[in-house]
Amino acid sequence: MGVHAFIVPIRDLNTLQTLPGIEIHDCGHKVGLNGVDNGALRFRSVRIPRDNLLNRFGDVSQDGKYTSSLPTINKRFAAMLGELVGGRVGLAYASVGFLKISVTIAVRYSLLRQQFGPPEQPEVSILDYQSQQHKLMPMLASSYAFHFATQYLVQKYSEMKKMHDEQLVADVHALSAGLKAYVTSYTAKSLSTCREACGGHGYAAVNRFGSLRNDHDIFQTFEGDNTVLMQQVAADLLRQYKDKFQGGTLSVTWNYLRESMNTYLSQPNPIIARWESADHLRDPKFQLDAFRSLILSLSSLQSLSKLCTIVLMQEVELL
Ligand SMILES: Cc1cc2nc3c(=O)[nH]c(=O)nc-3n(C[C@H](O)[C@H](O)[C@H](O)COP(=O)(O)OP(=O)(O)OC[C@H]3O[C@@H](n4cnc5c(N)ncnc54)[C@H](O)[C@@H]3O)c2cc1C
Repeated sequence: MGVHAFIVPIRDLNTLQTLPGIEIHDCGHKVGLNGVDNGALRFRSVRIPRDNLLNRFGDVSQDGKYTSSLPTINKRFAAMLGELVGGRVGLAYASVGFLKISVTIAVRYSLLRQQFGPPEQPEVSILDYQSQQHKLMPMLASSYAFHFATQYLVQKYSEMKKMHDEQLVADVHALSAGLKAYVTSYTAKSLSTCREACGGHGYAAVNRFGSLRNDHDIFQTFEGDNTVLMQQVAADLLRQYKDKFQGGTLSVTWNYLRESMNTYLSQPNPIIARWESADHLRDPKFQLDAFRSLILSLSSLQSLSKLCTIVLMQEVELL
């Protein structure tokens, strides 16, 4: 009948010894997160009463008859896995916290650390070097973008929990899988970049990059390996693309192409045109066009963080 969740007692409540047929193994010392007590369980011929079934998606009557509101094993499997969405939302949100901490440490250090300046002049802050800015500013901008993106995800998740709307469940599933995979991969790479941006001091345990990196690394794997999650996002995008052309009349295709071409035809490419006046750069219409242009050309979340970086760097230059 598919995968189901049960409550299985594992210890005798009086002696705290493991019950017959149950084995518990500690996972041992890990690379990080040793405050989390992970273990493995093995069950051999363990029998439990049918009342121990968590029966939201399927139930067994006293005379052994199975019933479910979901018609197929696949649908029940999807419903079970759907319960993991909450964990992914939490991980994406927590990963942004790691990013904020490491970027803050690296930017503050880069402001204080001084290196070679012009001849006969005082040394300059390493944050004045373009190479240092190119490392840190995109990460700073991405921290903002991910902060708002994960806040949006949390809001959609709580709506989903209240409404149980099927379309919303599918959207939140794809969004949480994509954001969890994208944000945690980005943060994992950024932690190393931030460490390098702080030079030798970045390697001192007191400056935290080592423990942050070790604790965060597994975020790319648990609650769903990132590669597998991205495959789920790809499957959902292909389904949406297919739905867009469902019905197959010429007008559906025509509308789709017209929508895509609108941005190309209505104004010069906002990134390439390079109008640099303050009024132009601060104009919300320009910023919206720039978002559209990047999303059309890159079609990925990467465009969001790239655009934020461009806007942020332009703001810094304007200031
Ligand atoms: C510290 C820690 C805490 C955990 N806590 C929990 C917990 O509380 N509850 C719980 O249920 N689980 C927990 N887990 C398990 C965790 O969810 C799994 O480790 C994780 O989902 C990855 O599964 P796996 O280890 O079997 O890796 P695998 O699935 O074996 O993945 C190994 C590699 O194979 C690749 N791969 C696998 N399948 C595919 C595919 N279909 N297509 C392409 N590539 C693929 C992956 O990309 C990866 O690179 C925890 C794990 C750790 C390390």
